Amino acid sequence: MTARLPPGVAVTDPDLIASYLRDESRFTDADRPLAVLTPRTTAEVADCLRACHAAGVPVVTRGAGTGLSGGANGVSGGVVLSLHRMDRILEIDAVERLAVVQPGVVTGALRAAVAERGLFYPPDPGSVASCTIGGNVATNAGGMCCVKYGVTGDFVEALEVVLADGRVLRTGTRTVKGVAGYDLTSLVVGSEGTLGVVTEVTVRLVPAPGRPATLVASFADLASAGRAVAAISGAGVDASAVEILDATTLAAVDELTRMGIGGAAAMLLVQSDSSRPGEAAKVLVEAAALCEAAGAEVAVSDDPEEASLLMEARRQALPALERLGDWLLDDVCVPRARVVDLIAAVERVAADTGLVIGVFGHAGDGNLHPTVIFDAADLASETAALAAFDAITAAALELGGTITGEHGVGRLKAGWLARELDPVALEVQRALRRTFDPAGLLNPGVVL
Ligand SMILES: Cc1cc2nc3c(=O)[nH]c(=O)nc-3n(C[C@H](O)[C@H](O)[C@H](O)COP(=O)(O)OP(=O)(O)OC[C@H]3O[C@@H](n4cnc5c(N)ncnc54)[C@H](O)[C@@H]3O)c2cc1C
Repeated sequence: MTARLPPGVAVTDPDLIASYLRDESRFTDADRPLAVLTPRTTAEVADCLRACHAAGVPVVTRGAGTGLSGGANGVSGGVVLSLHRMDRILEIDAVERLAVVQPGVVTGALRAAVAERGLFYPPDPGSVASCTIGGNVATNAGGMCCVKYGVTGDFVEALEVVLADGRVLRTGTRTVKGVAGYDLTSLVVGSEGTLGVVTEVTVRLVPAPGRPATLVASFADLASAGRAVAAISGAGVDASAVEILDATTLAAVDELTRMGIGGAAAMLLVQSDSSRPGEAAKVLVEAAALCEAAGAEVAVSDDPEEASLLMEARRQALPALERLGDWLLDDVCVPRARVVDLIAAVERVAADTGLVIGVFGHAGDGNLHPTVIFDAADLASETAALAAFDAITAAALELGGTITGEHGVGRLKAGWLARELDPVALEVQRALRRTFDPAGLLNPGVVL
């Protein structure tokens, strides 16, 4: 196969290969790949895939490896195809309000580049400083401002995708509207590297938001914060972020950042970025009243620096919890009115297993990340952690929710998919996968 690869793309150094073994997930299978392929162009991606196809070698596509479901983990006898060298912003068109980018562009870099032109690319995963647009498209990533703007897929207009056999597929249009044929763009979004390798992404941009105003609501218990979330959602408050952190997460973040935000049993961060004069303040007055009615103490700030510090503290939730011990992070999403029930379920699971479970997440979307802390050196603790994870995921399904709100199925939840999808949906998805990749070489073991 090596002879058919473009020159200079194959990395076989064992130390370098070792660094491509897995993503940021825990409890997911990962095997050392034969090589890492690092193409620079779409043509080189196509050549790599043609060579692998001819040799029957599995291909795992990788962006930055920040994934939390094992989707970019190496497989035995396969290669990892890393898009990190395809990291150019090809175009920013202020008239059409779109940008065309290569898949290896870091999400934060795109946001910064379009901001210089007075434009905004909203999707903002907590990993925004390191994850890539290609990875975001493949996982249909969410983030903090999804509650107002939507997820990555809501901003993808068109894609270039290299199929398993090396053919290049173009989907979508640059026009505001376009309904010619099936919506293959949406099909590829969220397909976790199983349908093809995304080599170019056209994203929709929106006008720059206003100066953010932020509300911090401290609650005496987590359930009250959950009730406030339902009230905020029910009242149609136009917030651009509604984030939740429980006492465990707050203490861990405080320990890491020394920001002095620990102490409350739960905190909601509510932000408005409305650019209409006086609107952001009005949104927060509404949110404050609802939080106070749920028993919170509330503080409001219109200082953008303070706003970005608070949001950065929220982004540190997972790195902070990681310092408490071994961890297993869940990603479940329930109807917003059921956030309070999900919180109750997590509290029951923590009591039953005797484990600490930190809760944080995008509460305004109903998307929480209960994070089980355990001791991997103690088999009983590890077994309890896995049971807790399963119980939380099952509770989300029972509450009418989903097994994954934004991190994807990956390898971590491949066994769960059949519990959520009906058999016909599963059958159609498998048939679609076979159409795109008849030999089953792309990301085997991921999703289904
Ligand atoms: C601290 C932290 C915070 C996070 N916060 C969030 C959050 O708020 N919201 C959220 O949604 N996620 C979050 N994540 C998860 C992760 O950052 C996202 O899933 C992200 O989209 C992964 O991007 P990546 O470039 O690292 O992709 P990778 O991890 O490299 O890959 C992820 C998946 O996409 C596939 N893939 C990657 N690039 C391509 C491509 N070009 N073509 C086809 N398939 C491809 C891979 O095969 C894999 O299945 C967080 C992770 C961390 C560590």
